[in-house]
Amino acid sequence: MCGIIGINATEPYTSQELLSRLKKLEYRGYDSWGYWNGTQLVKKVGKIEVSDDQQAVNVAISHTRWATHGGVNEKNAHPHRAGKVTIVHNGIIDNWKELRTGLEAKGRGFRSETDSEAIAHYIDTALNEGKDILAIIKLLIEEIHGTFASLIMIDGDDTLYAMKRDSPLALGVCKDRMILGSDIYAFSDTTNEAIFFENDEYATIRPTGYTFYKNGEELVKEAKAFKWTTMEEDKQEYAHFMLKEIHEEPSVNQRLIDSLQTEQDVHFKELVDLIKNAKKTVFTAAGTAYHASLLGASFLHKCGVNAQAIIASEFENFITIDDETLVIAVSQSGETMDVIEALKYSKDKGATIASIVNVPYSTIERMSSLSLQILAGQEVAVASTKAFANQATVMLALAQEFGYANGLAGMPKKLAGVLAFEPELQKLAQELHEHRDLYVLGRGLGYPVAREIALKIKEISYVHAEGMMGGELKHGTIALIENGTPVISLVYNDDPKMRSSTQEVKARGARTIVIGTTPQAELNVPAESEAEFAILASTLGQLLAYYIALARNLPIDKPRNLAKSVTVL
Ligand code: GLU
Repeated sequence: MCGIIGINATEPYTSQELLSRLKKLEYRGYDSWGYWNGTQLVKKVGKIEVSDDQQAVNVAISHTRWATHGGVNEKNAHPHRAGKVTIVHNGIIDNWKELRTGLEAKGRGFRSETDSEAIAHYIDTALNEGKDILAIIKLLIEEIHGTFASLIMIDGDDTLYAMKRDSPLALGVCKDRMILGSDIYAFSDTTNEAIFFENDEYATIRPTGYTFYKNGEELVKEAKAFKWTTMEEDKQEYAHFMLKEIHEEPSVNQRLIDSLQTEQDVHFKELVDLIKNAKKTVFTAAGTAYHASLLGASFLHKCGVNAQAIIASEFENFITIDDETLVIAVSQSGETMDVIEALKYSKDKGATIASIVNVPYSTIERMSSLSLQILAGQEVAVASTKAFANQATVMLALAQEFGYANGLAGMPKKLAGVLAFEPELQKLAQELHEHRDLYVLGRGLGYPVAREIALKIKEISYVHAEGMMGGELKHGTIALIENGTPVISLVYNDDPKMRSSTQEVKARGARTIVIGTTPQAELNVPAESEAEFAILASTLGQLLAYYIALARNLPIDKPRNLAKSVTVL
């Protein structure tokens, strides 16, 4: 993962501009960061600090890291310098060991444990051998196995070089500067003109111009105007972005529902037709988006549509894809590498590709023949909340087209109603936050919700939470239930099977908490259908996870070891 920024400008600028742009990408990785401005190499562990350093330069590169190779320390933070070459890199170089061994044999001394440093040594060595920089980059792209979005600076050369394969890279074109960034948030406050790098493309970037290449050939690439997408940087009155984003659910949900009937109407109908015409529909996603996909598959399945949801990282192992299959990728960032891999595989098998994304112009959107946007606005908190609510709502809207009666129109209002549970959830969190283990049980549509609530609790509260099928409990996990173990049961309409599962753990001393739709439930959600219950209970779970993490005094928006967009395998 990680975020990269490079700026080449006509007028000098300070590290403040560079780092405040890098800060916009901090959600992509935040274990360490650094920059190179031609004279200063700064590398630090922790959150990006935008200093008031007044040194002004025309060209600089920077990086916020999510370590894949080598521990989190200053030595491994990017940029990496070798001789006169400085680079930043997002991605993984699979054959870094071979490259490194070859370069060490030529006498190069490496300073870090990263895969990335090999890029800097490779280029510097070849420059010393008198080769031309564009020829070197072309050869390097051929020799690297793996993924990269990389920016390169060479001492004494005021051109910025960039290359990409599979990791995202965009060029923001401004009047007086060129801004390279991992996504459009890097420059969307300044320009709405961008060029997206495609695989194996590389470019020379000057303050007012650029040239793109592939395989040694010059390419004609024009900047395209994109719809303005500014950062939502302000937490407003909220203590955390996560809480702000949960509170935005009713309004972004309304925006989505309206758009499906207006500006996204045509695409929406086309997607419905693709589902109708496909032999089977397969959703693929990771993490939270996978849980929304499970809901989608289940909604469609209830209407007789052959639909499945498969975790992207295991896609090839658990599904047969052919040219009559529709694969729908679901991804908040639109950059999730596991999903991109699943799509490549599906394309090879002849499947039709569609997607449901939040970030516009993302790689997954560009790989799809049809894409719907969930319009949740930027999610800053690492734990996905409003994006989940809108992904699930798209699923509901699709199912409605197949005759699944549901409460789509009333969803925004109902989501607003869930926010009223906050005081109760805060109280419950006070009781739960000291437990080390917790279980969430659900059946049918409640099962993806159980998993989603458990995931939220794990990622921001660091409490071991297991979300599982109510029926599976007695086949093993019930052995873990002790006196006082908290078990949350999702019980729609007093479902007798879920009642039994709840009784079974209660009989073994569990502290049971029923989220349901009847007065007997500890938290009685005003849902009129099972689908509504699934979405509303998920939001309830997001709030519960938030308050447990708050009670544990944890860094809610940026939990340890995580990053918002997972662009590595
Ligand atoms: N593989 C590189 C590293 O571990 C880059 C990781 C990233 O994309 O942040 O330093």
